[in-house]
Amino acid sequence: MWPHSPLGGIAVLALSHALILYPTLRPNVQWLGDVITHFDTPRKEVWLTIDDGPTDDTRALLDSFAARGVKATFFVKGTLASQHRELVEEMLARGHSVANHSETHPAGSFWCSPPARIANEIEGCNRALAEITGATPRWFRAPVGMKNPFVHPALARRGMRLIGWTARAFDAVVSDPEEIAARILPRLRPGAIIVLHQGRAHSLPSLERVIDAVHERGYAFVIPDDAQLRA
Ligand SMILES: [Zn+2]
Repeated sequence: MWPHSPLGGIAVLALSHALILYPTLRPNVQWLGDVITHFDTPRKEVWLTIDDGPTDDTRALLDSFAARGVKATFFVKGTLASQHRELVEEMLARGHSVANHSETHPAGSFWCSPPARIANEIEGCNRALAEITGATPRWFRAPVGMKNPFVHPALARRGMRLIGWTARAFDAVVSDPEEIAARILPRLRPGAIIVLHQGRAHSLPSLERVIDAVHERGYAFVIPDDAQLRA
């Protein structure tokens, strides 16, 4: 009787929505496909990833990273990359890598976007970066980390992988460098992926605070190979 009762139908509907929404809204949940959350290394190494650029503070970040011997990966927005291709070129020239953080960064709607829009967001940024760098990125990070059932198929068709993180600090909202470092450091371990953002007044001091604290603990910043990535 239960499956035919109206309440049973609502329960099934609610459950099925929950089964889609949970892995969509929980960034590192793996139900819809692999989300890279760390990398394999025998050494005290971590991967610094920086989202939302290229922004006006890019050169200051690059100078600071050079002074500290840090290599990082910038997950950039396609629209900004096209507007500031010289900043993307400088990221690469100074030994960093660039990856795809969508074309327009629709933070509020990416998670509920239909397949064609998901594909356009991924493809648009790929095209922008390919035009600037001559190479198509292999890595994608979804806006605010949310993905839906259409993201993995779109990535798989392009030979790309979805990159999550080990440690984040909600530094789009939190602005105190000490608090940001305090959110990152407890999750520090070999192979950790750290995500922070650029483009805000506190971005550079926060990055420097985290980098110096990570160095004090004996870790180096590296960019892993594809083969080292783990879900
Ligand atoms: Zn972002």
